[in-house]
Amino acid sequence: MRVSVALTVSFALLTTMDAENPYEFANTPGKLPKQVVPLEYSIRIIPDVAKFMFAGSETVKIKATAPIRELVLNSLELDIAKASIDGIQLPPDTIKLDPNNELLTIALPNELKVGEHSLALEFSGKITPKGRGFYYMPYQEEGAGAKKIALGTQFEPSDARRFFPCWDEPSFRARFQLTTVVPENWLAVSNMPIESEHKVAIGKEVRFQATPSMSSYLNVFVTGELDAIETKAAGTQIRVIATKGKAEWGRYALESTAQILQYYNDYFGVPYPLPKLDQIAIPGGFGGAMENWGGITYYESALLFDPKKSSAATRQRIYEVIAHETAHQWFGDLVTMAWWDNLWLNEGFASWMGSKCTAHFNPEWEVWLAKNIQRDPTRRTGIAKEVAMEGDARSTTHAIQQPVANEAEANSAFDDITYRKGQSFLRMLESFLGENVFRDGIRRYIAAHKYSNSTTADLWNALSDASGKPVAEIAAAWTEQPGFPVVMMKRDGEKISLSQERFTINFANAPALLWKIPVTYFVVGEKKIESRLMTGKIDNLPNVVANRVIKLNANGAGNYRVQYDESSWKALLGALAKLNLEDRVNLLSDSWALVQANRADVSLYLELIGKLPRGHELAERDQIVNAFDYINRLLPDNPTREKFQEYARSILQPTFDELGWEPKKNESPRDSLLRASLIAALGDLNGQEIIAACKKRFEKFVVDPVSLAPDLRASVCFVVGQNADDASWNQLHDLGLKTTSIEEKQNYYDALAGARDPKLAAKALQISLTDELPTSRALHLVGKVARYSGHPDLAWDFAKANMKALLEKTDAVGANSFAPGLFVFFSEKARADELKTYAKSNLPAASAKEVAKAVDEVEFRAAFKQRLMPQLTAWIAKQEL
Ligand SMILES: [Zn+2]
Repeated sequence: MRVSVALTVSFALLTTMDAENPYEFANTPGKLPKQVVPLEYSIRIIPDVAKFMFAGSETVKIKATAPIRELVLNSLELDIAKASIDGIQLPPDTIKLDPNNELLTIALPNELKVGEHSLALEFSGKITPKGRGFYYMPYQEEGAGAKKIALGTQFEPSDARRFFPCWDEPSFRARFQLTTVVPENWLAVSNMPIESEHKVAIGKEVRFQATPSMSSYLNVFVTGELDAIETKAAGTQIRVIATKGKAEWGRYALESTAQILQYYNDYFGVPYPLPKLDQIAIPGGFGGAMENWGGITYYESALLFDPKKSSAATRQRIYEVIAHETAHQWFGDLVTMAWWDNLWLNEGFASWMGSKCTAHFNPEWEVWLAKNIQRDPTRRTGIAKEVAMEGDARSTTHAIQQPVANEAEANSAFDDITYRKGQSFLRMLESFLGENVFRDGIRRYIAAHKYSNSTTADLWNALSDASGKPVAEIAAAWTEQPGFPVVMMKRDGEKISLSQERFTINFANAPALLWKIPVTYFVVGEKKIESRLMTGKIDNLPNVVANRVIKLNANGAGNYRVQYDESSWKALLGALAKLNLEDRVNLLSDSWALVQANRADVSLYLELIGKLPRGHELAERDQIVNAFDYINRLLPDNPTREKFQEYARSILQPTFDELGWEPKKNESPRDSLLRASLIAALGDLNGQEIIAACKKRFEKFVVDPVSLAPDLRASVCFVVGQNADDASWNQLHDLGLKTTSIEEKQNYYDALAGARDPKLAAKALQISLTDELPTSRALHLVGKVARYSGHPDLAWDFAKANMKALLEKTDAVGANSFAPGLFVFFSEKARADELKTYAKSNLPAASAKEVAKAVDEVEFRAAFKQRLMPQLTAWIAKQEL
């Protein structure tokens, strides 16, 4: 799954796990007794769309490995009407539901003998608007704009039990065969192809083929008035499915899937195992993408690309998300983590593999450098690795592998550490072991565990076998303890000594930790990259010529920071022109992190910016845009802010002038993205020239949409929205109401939320209480006001006053992070205390981690602001001399 991460900083407990064992069903954590396992489910679901209810029945072939007196499986918010075992109906009082533990217990009249048996159940449940279990999605149909309803499911991690009673833990693999009844003009989609279809009184009955052995959370069912386009690649039928009238916008996704599938067929050494792969665009429900085997669901804007209206950034995001979800078809679906404590294995791996595949086919995107800089100006969240490293430096971080006791904890495991640190560590490991050796290890791993489960230990064993290196030993500190190191380099002529310590931000008295670090380095101006495993606290680099400049962490591929002594740093500053882009971006990231960590004055970072070679490299400029954005939001409205904005514009404006408003012929797609990024940034920094130009172009766009390139629309609307008056705000609102494209809608509503005029910001907040936006998006609007209007206080006051109504629009996971998420734009210590007090009496215990993260962020911002203001003032004064 790729969660839609709204406002994440990282959290958690400091736990160290014991080295784990290879997968064994009997020793896998979980609540369900292991003496009974399901083999085959035959499930029948009949939705009643008018009542938002469904009726269900199932027969499950089970196997008992020991004599038992009761069956224990999962069920949540289902009514169980009847149960029978081996054809004998059980009295109603033998059925016990335990909603707190999400369990269904069936007492058996006689001891069930070892061997196979058949359990039959009849049940019913609700179809809800929340993206958990079985949900409905109201949407506007393309063209006519008629209001329609589609149905879908979302089960990871533990919501299949809301659809049918089941052994809903990942190691209880089974085959699933679904039958359903839907209106005749509806398309029904599940994991497998349709086996048979025939007319019945209330519509048509559709029977799907049985799946291979898989985990319950990978089931999917989507139905509605849907269209499909299709192709074939390497014998697999590939379809893109969308609501009527939109399927043609799936053309780019269809072609990309064909390319990606064949790449993975080769990489994993096992061809895609199902007869078909559907990529399904859903118009609401939940906001992410989910790797259901054979039927992947995507929030519409992550799959559909309208060449006339969509931006290059959308195109790139679509490719990356497809590459991520499709990687899961092997890593996650064919081989599944044993339990949620190994979620990183699924997500870190799919993130890494998706990036590798995306980079392979799209070198011009500079994926490793720029990945996940979300270029939508209102969702800029920083380079993937940087976001993870920032969270991982805090007191609220956790180890990649963390104990997961129950469903609620499984839900909160989907975070930056799991996805991004996981990916970053795998990339470092791949470059240390070598690309081919690493791939051979992965092939061994897939071959050994296909149609089964695994643990991290199984992956390390396969990689050790392929490489002959002690992978588990190297990996342990990276996956089993929190945080990461900073390597300090000291130079005395030919002698270069290294030492390591834990790198932290706003975390006094952090427990000291050590890592085995695959350190890489090179002599600036020479091609050869040296590498060595730093195993202790100190180390030396051998054979370095005295007067040559040394750069550590080649290409920034390692998951550690570097702090140079003064003479080494000065030497690097003098040699910037000889470094490649990756290494320059790495120096920018490291020096900005050193400033945040209070290891350096902000002048270290700003001096580096000043010394960079002239140019308009996207990744380099975006790193600067992100840091400036952070500083800008930190400073209160006072002369420091104005002076800083002026200084920041003086750095960014020349790059924009070099690019100009109009695309050059045959320019790189990166230039187009950078242009959009700079427009939003300069507007946000109060650049009057850009603001005026955006207003002019927007007026023209309203009359003649073709006049504004799709790549620039989000940024131009955003700047217009921030500076809107009543008239332009209403114009944006009308455009948002009218469009049926979720991507366009997003642009317009993001723009509305950015309005600096407090009266308009208040109007934007009110929209979150209406049904103008898909349910899953309404709450985001409040967060956007907090972030972009400059009035986080307005957003919080509104949220506090309407908390109940707002939380009804989200699921438990969203509810845990909503209130804390609104605080992270405050930088006054008193707000941290306010949140703590509010949480105590208003928020559930399950939101504790999110609260702790937000409190840490507010406290950090407060301290950072105090430190930064005099440093900035001094730096700017020095520039004016
Ligand atoms: Zn995923």
